[in-house]
Amino acid sequence: MPPILELTRVTKRFPADKGEITVLNDVSLSVQPGEAVCLVGESGCGKTTTGKLVAGLHAPSEGHIRYQGKDIWQMNKDEFAQYRREVQFIHQDPYASLNPAHTIGRMLSFPLKYHGITKDEANTQARVRELLKLVDLTPVDDFVHKFPHQLSGGQRQRASIARSLTLSPKVIVADESVSMVDVSIRLSLLGILSRLKQELGMTVLFITHDLAIANYFARDGRTVVMYLGRVVELARTPDIMLHPQHPYAQALLGAVPEADPQLTRNKVRVPLRSLDVPSLRNLPPGCAFHPRCPVYAQGVCETDVPQLTPMPDGRIIACHVAVKNIMSE
Ligand code: SF4
Repeated sequence: MPPILELTRVTKRFPADKGEITVLNDVSLSVQPGEAVCLVGESGCGKTTTGKLVAGLHAPSEGHIRYQGKDIWQMNKDEFAQYRREVQFIHQDPYASLNPAHTIGRMLSFPLKYHGITKDEANTQARVRELLKLVDLTPVDDFVHKFPHQLSGGQRQRASIARSLTLSPKVIVADESVSMVDVSIRLSLLGILSRLKQELGMTVLFITHDLAIANYFARDGRTVVMYLGRVVELARTPDIMLHPQHPYAQALLGAVPEADPQLTRNKVRVPLRSLDVPSLRNLPPGCAFHPRCPVYAQGVCETDVPQLTPMPDGRIIACHVAVKNIMSE
């Protein structure tokens, strides 16, 4: 099946005090229709920039982003408008992303009327009620006339999800969409997003710094590990969670606490050579992870940038040592 989304050698630079700063470097990724893909990594790894590029909120400095086979920056005005309707972005902060002056009902009905999706007021109100039910904001009459400040954090994020569904998107880009709510609410929001993905057949690109969330949400999909603007490992989620191969992915997994303290104590931690993350303004030469990497190979890692290499089990890794080890097994 052709991919619904395809990023080919995408690089993104932003203007900085002195020249430019490269926040995304040579990222390639293809996503199948209906797939759940999680982007994980520390702050500054480029995952949110990737999400914004996919949603058409930024243009790449180099490379191509294709939606259903078409470069989104080569689309004409109508095609691009259609693309923006079909690819929706859920922001991290439901406090800032909802208009405080609009009721939830008005917020959901406006795009339906503006884009001519509903034919009359009765039709619009029926669809608003349907959307609120989809995200479990029920009884609907308790929420439709409320303003965002009258809702809890979890309810606001559900209203935000409902708004992203108004235009019946094919792709949702969810940027840390559950990180600002209590842990107890997080699970129910993830459950709602998973159910909507199944029921509506949507493709979801889920951005998170929390590997436990990636493991839960994309357990049947794939996970992409990013470090300082590059993809370092991409694999089926269980393969990443149980057998990470890239030293950075191993370090990241080793640092995740488990609910069972005994399991946490027994975890194999990867001793990094340095805890300092290099600045994007002054990246180390070669592999950007080499100043921290516990297994770096002198003479190669500090000079040659590792390229993403497909492995026999289907994963893709950018690491001189891991690739050599896997290929010699
Ligand atoms: Fe470590 Fe070298 Fe692999 Fe980079 S390429 S992660 S420095 S072993």
